[in-house]
Amino acid sequence: MSVTVRVPAKVNLHLGVGGVRADGFHELVTVFQAVSLYDIVEATPAASLGLTLTGADTRGIPQGTDNLALRAAVQLAERLGVEPAVHLRIDKQIPVAGGMAGGSADAAAALVACARLWGADTDHPAIAEVAERLGSDVPFALSGGNALGTGRGERITPLAGHGRFHWVLAEAEQGLSTPLVFGEFDRRAARAGAPAADTGQHRTALLRSFADVLDSGEAARLAPLLGNDLQDAALALRPELDATLRLGRRAGALGALVSGSGPTCAFLTEGAASAADLSEFLLGSGCCRAVRTAHGPVPGATVIDPADAA
Ligand code: ATP
Repeated sequence: MSVTVRVPAKVNLHLGVGGVRADGFHELVTVFQAVSLYDIVEATPAASLGLTLTGADTRGIPQGTDNLALRAAVQLAERLGVEPAVHLRIDKQIPVAGGMAGGSADAAAALVACARLWGADTDHPAIAEVAERLGSDVPFALSGGNALGTGRGERITPLAGHGRFHWVLAEAEQGLSTPLVFGEFDRRAARAGAPAADTGQHRTALLRSFADVLDSGEAARLAPLLGNDLQDAALALRPELDATLRLGRRAGALGALVSGSGPTCAFLTEGAASAADLSEFLLGSGCCRAVRTAHGPVPGATVIDPADAA
């Protein structure tokens, strides 16, 4: 009997980058929103560990045990004391190396699917432990919704908010490596000689400013709060993204930013109809490989009826 899990991509509504820690990671403070662009992960009992990848574009995804979903399955099996005898099928819709945490999403989905397959509750503490070890964005992919992320992003505080926001997501021709973008961020910071941002102060300010706005669902109030400390670094590595952002703003987006480490550009729109219009316009302009509309927030990794995966 298989278990099917649907898992969302994320947009960083705000991403503040602080100093480099002793372990080499940057101290981050971020507001995540899970959006309705999903990967589907199906776990089926099998004689041994295996993986099948399908979807729009699976270039650059490791097929072996470097794949984050397989690593998740192996580490959960170890922790639960069972054999990792599972075949994972990942239907990939989240752009690869797109700044939308697709790999982390697959890992979170694999944890939920395998836990169910192996008879562990979906809130079994092993899931959160393995998630935190696997990567900064995995805990958020489990919880979804809106959340404040601190540490290297893995410490999650859920943020209430019933408002629904509408996004247009413009995918670039080629992915961008997260470490490369952080490297460029560090070079720029060293050149500017500016002290690292105080993430503690930043956290307080973000909590204060986002609290009401996320509940209001008013895109015009959310737009001025959008921000990404990695954006200049991503634009330095991919100058063409600047033109994409400008194009979307000129065509009526209320807010425009690079998602996480990029290169996906996220545009905040007034509602579903304006998102559809902007999406059509951007696609026609030829500035990007693919354009999707999505809304957020949505729940994190969730077991679904396979019929709903289509
Ligand atoms: P983030 O926003 O978390 O920094 P990203 O969205 O930019 O990440 P991902 O799609 O998560 O990037 O992929 C980053 C790299 O992780 C890929 O280039 C690939 O080598 C590796 N990877 C491992 N497992 C997966 C997976 N299941 N799906 C996608 N990439 C994976």
